[in-house]
Amino acid sequence: MKSYKEMSAEELKAEKASLEQKYEEYKAMALNLDMTRGKPGSDQLDLSNHIYDSLSSEGFKTRDGVDTRNYNTPAGITEMREVFAQILGTDANKIFLGNSSSLNQMFDSIMRAIVFGEHDSDKPWGQIEGKKWLCPVPGYDRHFRVTQTLGFELVNVPMTENGPDMDIVEELVKDEKVLGIWCIPVYSNPDGIVYSEDTCRRLASMKTAAKDFRIYWDNAYVVHHLTDNESEQGSVPDILGLCEEYGNPSRAYEFASSSKITFAGGGISCIAANKDNMDHAKKIMAVQTICNNKINQLAHARMLPDLDAVKAHMRKHAELLRPKFSKTLEILDSQLAWTGTANWHEPKGGYFVSIFVQKGTADKVVSMCKEAGVALTPAGATYPYGKDPDNSNIRIAPSFPSVEEIDTAVNVLCVCAKITAIDKILEEQ
Ligand code: PLP
Repeated sequence: MKSYKEMSAEELKAEKASLEQKYEEYKAMALNLDMTRGKPGSDQLDLSNHIYDSLSSEGFKTRDGVDTRNYNTPAGITEMREVFAQILGTDANKIFLGNSSSLNQMFDSIMRAIVFGEHDSDKPWGQIEGKKWLCPVPGYDRHFRVTQTLGFELVNVPMTENGPDMDIVEELVKDEKVLGIWCIPVYSNPDGIVYSEDTCRRLASMKTAAKDFRIYWDNAYVVHHLTDNESEQGSVPDILGLCEEYGNPSRAYEFASSSKITFAGGGISCIAANKDNMDHAKKIMAVQTICNNKINQLAHARMLPDLDAVKAHMRKHAELLRPKFSKTLEILDSQLAWTGTANWHEPKGGYFVSIFVQKGTADKVVSMCKEAGVALTPAGATYPYGKDPDNSNIRIAPSFPSVEEIDTAVNVLCVCAKITAIDKILEEQ
């Protein structure tokens, strides 16, 4: 089959006419499909329905005899800190457990730096005019909104197959106004990219003008593999260990949560940091709260007592998610690949498929899909300020809809992507 670029104007017009007919057929179906947010499907949530059973059968005390119903143990119960330490490949004494949202922890952590500074800051970040934050793109819209809301200028850094473009990062951090970087090292949102070891080492070792520069290492998808094959699974080195190895022991804060392991919005979040960062943060957190929800920590620790249990549980998630990702990729392959107008990553884990449609058309594709009853994340959402300079990236989230819904929704997306691509090519001819 000829790609669109190889077709004559006449051929493209004929192709467009038949696609428009299909599009009208979809519109007539009055669809109401949602591929916007990366939420677990309800069948995935069902995997954890029994999580609280142990509380009535085994009671509320931890193995050390801590009564989780009462005020105590602000950093979290030992058994769950150990589980997160195993998940992140670090020490339990570097782990602090919070309530359900890691995003909340990230916000609070930056907020602390703004109001009080870091332990190694000369002054609170709030007093720094023109402070900047590095944002690998495409990336997670909520990250960008945190640093935008907290007064940073957001600086785009292109992603490569190995993580953020480190040549660019190393240049940008020579500016002392650049105070941090967002990183999703495993199955990045939205591209599903796993950082290479070299990228991790360069981040940990690079020379930064700001001595209190911080890496926000959001390991949200660290155990969220889609494949059973261990060798294909993504993993990255322990960033806290690497920062220590290179003489920058306070450079990284690491985050994770059980939102997509047990219950989204009902799980446990975790922050991992070296002693200086943790002591500094704890002083302020102790003013904010007496302790977090340890009953939930205990329920989690009993259902997922160690990394093996977490892995076995995540394999069940993968079984439910795989058909949805396979369907998405199968349709993209059969409907879009041959046109030569779009490309995408084939994620081995995480929650998203990130598609780059013909430059200059993503907003049109999303609005056409909407008109046909398919909701997609707004074009541009994966870039700071909602502005994709190429107007090309679209993030789709296959986890929540059924396979049948995905089938229809992705077909609609392909029809819209093809029509807009043809328009663009004809316009440029
Ligand atoms: N970090 C990333 C990269 C995410 O994609 C998400 C949710 O989609 C979150 C954090 C939110 O995590 P939490 O539920 O722990 O706040």
